[in-house]
Amino acid sequence: MSAPKTALVLSAHAADFVWRCGGAIALHAEMGYEVTVACMSFGERGESARLWKEGKTLDEVKAIRRAEAEAAAEALGVHRLECFDLGDYPLELDRDDKGRLVDLIRQVQPAFMLSHSKYDPYNTDHMYMTQVALECRMIAQAWGHNPGETVLGAPQLYLFEPHQTEQMGWKPDTFLDITPVWEKKRAAMEAMNGQVHLWDYYTRVAQQRANHFKRNSGGMSGGRDCKYAEGFESVFPRTVDAL
Ligand SMILES: [Zn+2]
Repeated sequence: MSAPKTALVLSAHAADFVWRCGGAIALHAEMGYEVTVACMSFGERGESARLWKEGKTLDEVKAIRRAEAEAAAEALGVHRLECFDLGDYPLELDRDDKGRLVDLIRQVQPAFMLSHSKYDPYNTDHMYMTQVALECRMIAQAWGHNPGETVLGAPQLYLFEPHQTEQMGWKPDTFLDITPVWEKKRAAMEAMNGQVHLWDYYTRVAQQRANHFKRNSGGMSGGRDCKYAEGFESVFPRTVDAL
């Protein structure tokens, strides 16, 4: 039996993977992929406003956000959730933290990776995450880094959709039909009790992207129907035998 296919999501904060690629995670999990999600922080300072307004302490906020992320990961069929607990606003990784992430990338040997948009002036943690993702992907490919370990191939890095899309210079080139797993994504979003205001917003985003899926799969000339989709921007070119 061959080893299962794998995928790796690099999420700056605990909830990002849910809104931005929850459908991709659930869909690939159903296809038999082992999807690992690495959250660099719980989004405890920057993305937990409601909990702070309720007077929670830092430890309480982190515990609640961890529990929400675990519930969401369960709903999506995540194989492994790795919480780095590095703090947010700002998110920072030192050399050892990056080494830990490189170790994870090499362990997982993902068929593809997912992370944030390259640019996000509203949330610099997000674009920092993508910079770190590229840096650690590069290190994981280096034969001179911890010689003897299995070196990483060339997994695609897909950038998932940011918040306030039009301000981010994010241009999707891939649309994924997530209709079959929509209920799982919605359940994962509803595990995020601190961000109730986003549930319907990201439902509408998925419906909008479904229109792009339909149009680009043929539109009125045989396009495939789709109710919910996610968009991604790929960083690296594809190598093909036919167009
Ligand atoms: Zn975030």
